[in-house]
Amino acid sequence: MKAVTWQGRHHVEVSNVDAPTVVNDRDIVVEVTSTAICGSDLHLYDGFIPTMQKGDILGHEFMGRVVEKGKEVHHLQIGDRVVVPFNIACGKCYYCEQKLTSICDNSNPNAAMAEKLYGQSGAGLFGYSHLYGGYSGGQAEYVRVPFADVGPLKIPDDMEDEQVLFLSDVLPTGYMAAENCQIREGDIVAVWGCGPVGQFAIKSALLLGARQVIAIDRIPFRLELAAKDERVIALHSDKVELQEALRELTGGRGPDACIDAVGMEAHGTSLGALYDQAKTAAYLATDRPQVLREAILACRKGGTLSIPGVYGGFVDKLPMGAAFAKGLTFRMGQTHVHRYMGRLLELIREGKIDPRFIITHRAPLEKAPELYETFRTKADHCLKVVMHP
Ligand code: NAD
Ligand code: ZN
Repeated sequence: MKAVTWQGRHHVEVSNVDAPTVVNDRDIVVEVTSTAICGSDLHLYDGFIPTMQKGDILGHEFMGRVVEKGKEVHHLQIGDRVVVPFNIACGKCYYCEQKLTSICDNSNPNAAMAEKLYGQSGAGLFGYSHLYGGYSGGQAEYVRVPFADVGPLKIPDDMEDEQVLFLSDVLPTGYMAAENCQIREGDIVAVWGCGPVGQFAIKSALLLGARQVIAIDRIPFRLELAAKDERVIALHSDKVELQEALRELTGGRGPDACIDAVGMEAHGTSLGALYDQAKTAAYLATDRPQVLREAILACRKGGTLSIPGVYGGFVDKLPMGAAFAKGLTFRMGQTHVHRYMGRLLELIREGKIDPRFIITHRAPLEKAPELYETFRTKADHCLKVVMHP
């Protein structure tokens, strides 16, 4: 079968590889009908996530049809259409029982590796390095889905792929980011990053009662898209004095909550951003935490910092004193996708949210090398790529 494989920094290929089969009784095999490239894939493409190996199959946002199933999978039938959460969860451990599925205790066979780095391991993830389990991803014609009695969500026949594909990751991620803000009616929420995660965080913050959202990015077309809703004010981070602008828009107090939907590869021209670029380029640091610094300084006292943006290692020059003095709450992590899929499917059916507005590029799988580059450079007004194997 055809699959998109990682070959090194800024190098992916469409390779011919063996198709997967059911290995365990709780597995299914899915024939992929739609799959997307995520901002998280860029961290792999840019070489920021360790333990990738040449030939690893990429992709954690995918959906398709069940073509094979193990004998413990009862609620799905061959031919059913499913969307698969990007994190793999056993459904039975201490964490899964609390629906904290992105920190499942049983789905990462390489947990020992993660424990060395992080103390404990998170869940296994599709197509996301050996540190996260070494699972083959869904940017492929077929993919094996473990614990399929727990993860995949069955999709009604009258809904199109593009309406539901993002339930696999970026829609729940934006939603959980907003939920983590503990929004009260009338709050002002600032969102750094207007990529797919930021766009859905903005929509979700408004759904959950925010009076206003301040959207921050450095790419005009992404800001313009966010500001189509009159409750959103767009700020170009390189063209305003950000801290001053945020104070002005919030009566001097600062946003009630701040969402970092950028993560470890923040860009910028400030002194801090240039310092991060130099340090990571020299392999003296792992992450570029410029947005975290800005959000800590901007957030109002007693406010919440919600961090869906991915961080991988150690961050430098974080104003911890400011966070402490202001009594901020930090909430973060990989999204507990399983927890949100059903609720968000209902919101899509009710017309409260239509995730299709983020799609800018549609292509066959063969175009993956070109489209990874387009998405990385944000050329051609690229916001989200959907591929059809
Ligand atoms: P993306 O690359 O499309 O978007 C990132 C955006 O941040 C871009 O528009 C970029 O211009 C903007 N940006 C860069 N530097 C900035 C700065 N200094 N200030 C303001 N904006 C800046 O990616 P995405 O798909 O939207 O993903 C965003 C982040 O969320 C990534 O780190 C990704 O790994 C992460 N993510 C996390 C989860 C999770 O489970 N927590 C799931 C999916 C994605
Ligand atoms: Zn993703």
